[in-house]
Amino acid sequence: MGIIEAAGLRKTFGGEVPVEALKGVDLVIEEGEFVGIMGPSGSGKSTLLHMLALLDDPTAGRVVVDGTDVLALSSIQKTSFRLNKLGYVFQEYALLPELNALENVYLPLMMLGAPAKDYEKEALEMMETVGLGKRAKHLISQMSGGEQQRVAIARALVNRSKILFADEPCANLDTRNSEIVMKLLRQLCDERRQTIVMVTHEPEHRQYMDRILWIKDGAMEREEKCRK
Ligand code: ADP
Ligand code: MG
Repeated sequence: MGIIEAAGLRKTFGGEVPVEALKGVDLVIEEGEFVGIMGPSGSGKSTLLHMLALLDDPTAGRVVVDGTDVLALSSIQKTSFRLNKLGYVFQEYALLPELNALENVYLPLMMLGAPAKDYEKEALEMMETVGLGKRAKHLISQMSGGEQQRVAIARALVNRSKILFADEPCANLDTRNSEIVMKLLRQLCDERRQTIVMVTHEPEHRQYMDRILWIKDGAMEREEKCRK
């Protein structure tokens, strides 16, 4: 059984002209896989990611994450599931500029009610994992885009999230910083067996991923195995 399984996933956005953003997607993602979601702009990549990441409900279909039928959860159970098991990285880093890097990273653990000495230690460990151990006390506003995105990744993983979801995390980064972030994601996958599901439109990112799900017009077009 995969760590993420989706079947018959549909999403229609209402409005004057309803948009069928997903038209029945089936997929299985294995634990420890680094999977990319690629396809033309408007093809439904972000919508699909949001459904798998419990950020929005599908119109129809089934999503099982880590053995839990997540659509059967109440909204409070969903929030708790997200906080405890999932991590998110977006195009905008969504960090708090007036806090230092370490404080940004331990926020999710603080929210989970961990004791201060534990969450500081965990957060520092994650800062080291993303190669920023020496910059823990730096203000976000003093960091480069690439560094900020690595802080965001540390924050997404500090609760030992089983799955990391990322939507175009390199979109605001230059080539060098994108490469640093992609290498870090690959390393997390290799060294921690971190499951990663990432939307991207950069063909050169394929070299870091195990498999690409190509989406077109709200449907799975094809699968591409990239490594192994
Ligand atoms: P991608 O990430 O591949 O660029 P999206 O998943 O964001 O594509 O969007 C797929 C389709 O669904 C597009 O036609 C988009 O306009 C539409 N869409 C996405 N989100 C919404 C929304 N909240 N309300 C209405 N339409 C939406
Ligand atoms: Mg998108």
